[in-house]
Amino acid sequence: MKRVFLLTGRPGTGKTAIIKEAIAKTKIRAGGFYTEEIRVSGVRQGFRIISLDGREAILAHTNISSPYQVSKYRVDIESLNRVGVSAIHQALEESDLIVIDEIGKMELLSPQFKEAVWQVINSRKRVLGTIMLSPYPFADEIKRHPEVKVLLVTRANHDEVLKEILNWLEIASMKITLKPLGDVDSEIVKELGEKVNLTFHCPVEIKTGFSYLAHAYNPEKRQYLASSLLASLNAPPRQKDEGVAGIVDVDLYAPRLNFVFGEADISSGTAIVSLCRLRQEYYGLPPDKKLFMERATKELVHELGHTFGLEHCSNTKCVMHFSNCLADTDWKEVSFCSQCCPKLRI
Ligand SMILES: [Zn+2]
Ligand SMILES: [Zn+2]
Repeated sequence: MKRVFLLTGRPGTGKTAIIKEAIAKTKIRAGGFYTEEIRVSGVRQGFRIISLDGREAILAHTNISSPYQVSKYRVDIESLNRVGVSAIHQALEESDLIVIDEIGKMELLSPQFKEAVWQVINSRKRVLGTIMLSPYPFADEIKRHPEVKVLLVTRANHDEVLKEILNWLEIASMKITLKPLGDVDSEIVKELGEKVNLTFHCPVEIKTGFSYLAHAYNPEKRQYLASSLLASLNAPPRQKDEGVAGIVDVDLYAPRLNFVFGEADISSGTAIVSLCRLRQEYYGLPPDKKLFMERATKELVHELGHTFGLEHCSNTKCVMHFSNCLADTDWKEVSFCSQCCPKLRI
């Protein structure tokens, strides 16, 4: 799953129209700007920049004075910075999707614009934009960024491209809530929130869960019944695309299983994860914080995968593979395999 989708193609292939349609069809909070042509009697005179919250300015025109020129158009860098760049900065603060239409020769005349683009590309936010087709060092570097997917738009593939973007945005409308239950180190939860965000690319909220776990305690086993804690997570009213995971630092078991790293309920979109057996110390070994965090992230991503409807996967490297023991957890990766990734739909 890439985080940045950039459309490219020849002028007039309708890239902006696709972006507008995609934004209109999604409920995701979007900010940023797009550009449109200024035409007089059918003749293109320049370009207007419009922020998603409705501010407008002339980006380029044949009849304005400016030292900057691209083909027959004079470019108003000040307007670009005032409306476009500030819309990007605002979106970085407030939105879950940043729209940049477009990253082209005119816009790249502004150093502030270039800086804002880099900031966005390297942020954790989703980005939907357009980028110039022809080679250009700055644009080429962006196209090569590992988080960037470039989609070539032609007059023939509109529907396909739109569908791909809408699928991707559907994922982006996901939300994750983490709830520490009982006594859990808040620093660990915070760090897990950041790791989970890196995998799902969606907002992660940490909410205080309940602190009373005694109802799930089995004194004979000296463990806690996972399903009992899961039931009292009581997530609803759950939003359609929300995954809720409780995090505990006590040992969990399930009927017929000596212990479980976690448990999930696909239908309610809730899960619970235990940190207890993920520490080296549990096995009498010296502490290894990095390894512990890796394991905790994998187990949490796994259970959250269930909350978004994924079943177990036979690929032992896939995070959705069932961990029977810690070696299974250590062997698998934190990411979803190519079979599971496309299923991550709500
Ligand atoms: Zn599982
Ligand atoms: Zn898989």
